[in-house]
Amino acid sequence: MHERLLLLTLTALPALGFEEPTRQKLTVRVVDHASIPPATLRRATLEAEAIFRRSGLETQWLPCLPEECGRSVPDSQLVIRILAPSMEGHKTSRHRLGIAIPTESRVYIFYSEVESSRLAHEYSLPVLLASVMAHEAAHLLGLEHTDIGIMRGGFTAKEIEQAAVGLMRFDETQAIRLRTEIQARLEEGQAFASAAPSPVTRWP
Ligand SMILES: [Zn+2]
Repeated sequence: MHERLLLLTLTALPALGFEEPTRQKLTVRVVDHASIPPATLRRATLEAEAIFRRSGLETQWLPCLPEECGRSVPDSQLVIRILAPSMEGHKTSRHRLGIAIPTESRVYIFYSEVESSRLAHEYSLPVLLASVMAHEAAHLLGLEHTDIGIMRGGFTAKEIEQAAVGLMRFDETQAIRLRTEIQARLEEGQAFASAAPSPVTRWP
C-alpha cells in the first residue's frame, strides 16, 4: 500500500512541473561588498540553491570578493551585489532589502537592512538573506510579485518561518517560467562560447 502511494506521488511530480532538475546549472555570482562573515554568506548561498532545487531548478551560487569577480562575468550568469551601508544609493522605501534591475542583469542587496531586520533576529539571518537573494534573482529571470510565497512584495514572518524549516520554493507556474528562462540563458551562453573565435583563428 505504501509502495503504491509512493509510486503515485512520484508519477504525479512531472505533472506538477517539478520533473527532473535541469542538467546544466545557472551560475549566480554573489559579490560581497559588505564583508559578511564567510559562514553566514556560505549558508545563505547554499540555502538559495536549495530554494531553487526544491523547485526542480539547478543553480550554483558562488560567493566572491569584489576584486575576484568584478566585470568579467558572462552575460548568461546572474550577479548579485551585497552592498555595504555606504553603497546603498539604490535603496528606496519600496525596495528596502534589495532591488533587481533586469535591464542590467544586476541585483543589489542592502545588507545592513537584512541584518537588522526583525525577521533575521526572530528566525535566521542566512535564511532571510537567501530568501531575499532568491526573490531578487527570480525578478531577473522574469518573475513578478505574487500575494504569497517567495515572490511576495514584502516578506512577513509567514514566508521566513517557512524558509527557516526548509519549505520555501517557487510554485509550479513560477518554476516553469524560471526553467524556460534559465535554459534560454544557458543556450545563449553556449552559442556565444562556440561562436567566439579561438585565439588561433583570431590570429592567423
Ligand atoms: Zn520583489
